[in-house]
Amino acid sequence: QASLAVETRQQPACTRDGRCYPVRANIQAPEEVAAVQAFGAEGIGLLRTEFLFLDRQQAPSEEEQREIYRALIEAVHPAPVVFRTFDIGGDKPAPYLSLPRETNPFLGVRGIRLGLKHLPLLRTQLRALLRAGAGQELRILFPMVSSYEEVETLRRLVHEVEEELRQQGQALAERVELGIMIEVPAAALLADALAEVVDFFSLGTNDLTQYVLAADRTNEGTASLADPFHPAILRLLQLTIEAAHRRQRRVEICGELASEPLALPLLLGLGIDELSMAPRAIPRCKQAIRRWTLSKAQQVAQQALHLRTAAEVRSYLHTCSPDGS
Ligand code: PEP
Ligand code: MG
Repeated sequence: QASLAVETRQQPACTRDGRCYPVRANIQAPEEVAAVQAFGAEGIGLLRTEFLFLDRQQAPSEEEQREIYRALIEAVHPAPVVFRTFDIGGDKPAPYLSLPRETNPFLGVRGIRLGLKHLPLLRTQLRALLRAGAGQELRILFPMVSSYEEVETLRRLVHEVEEELRQQGQALAERVELGIMIEVPAAALLADALAEVVDFFSLGTNDLTQYVLAADRTNEGTASLADPFHPAILRLLQLTIEAAHRRQRRVEICGELASEPLALPLLLGLGIDELSMAPRAIPRCKQAIRRWTLSKAQQVAQQALHLRTAAEVRSYLHTCSPDGS
């Protein structure tokens, strides 16, 4: 692993038939930014901003957030940072919000549901992000979206905050791209409508798998059921990517599946545009991309979509090689 193409780490990842893929890093702490560069990531494809909101007695101020976000933008410039708004709730509590106990936190008030209930917290984060992106393009990603109305509300909120900052004479991002996580089955099934109102999708296969298969991602008893290679997941990914592409929207994947070498031909073949994963997984992923052709990956994905079980999908993928039949 150590010798694995240290010299090619910083090179782009292109298939043999010439399709290049940005491979970015998922990070959840500013200290990890060193790994972003070391492992050859093209920027940050998922910044889990909840790190700033957890394990403390008070919410972070606008200024504290702005400084941290700005430093990250500058550290990876000109590559982008995809800022995901805080995904608090579920298994990630924040003491200062005194959130009620929930029987099913993963089906409860988490992600954007919590942000929309605690608007001052979300507005402050949006102000900090828009200011941090001053003079640049800014990418904002919303977690746990399950309806069209939520996206409309979020878009309105971003525009309101932009307007407020302009009136206050604050410098702000020049262009803002808004994206949503596709991690709730409803969002995947509604992808054609949602693609009208966002700039990009990011596939959150960790949560998508738990919600599609009704298998808690933290429960050891259901670990074997929560298999992202399940054909039901593959079909939802296909549907989502096709709906996005019909509207010329980009699809990224930031769930763990992105870093599974076995899944790579499937993801490329289904039409993914960008990948984001734990920094350590990046060099191997880039090497794997360089071995495939997009056309071969498309054949693999088409075959896999006809299979009936996760086990069949896995064993089929084990038989596939970039140049074999
Ligand atoms: C996901 O759900 O796939 C994802 C990337 O988000 P998180 O793991 O932070 O829930
Ligand atoms: Mg998630």
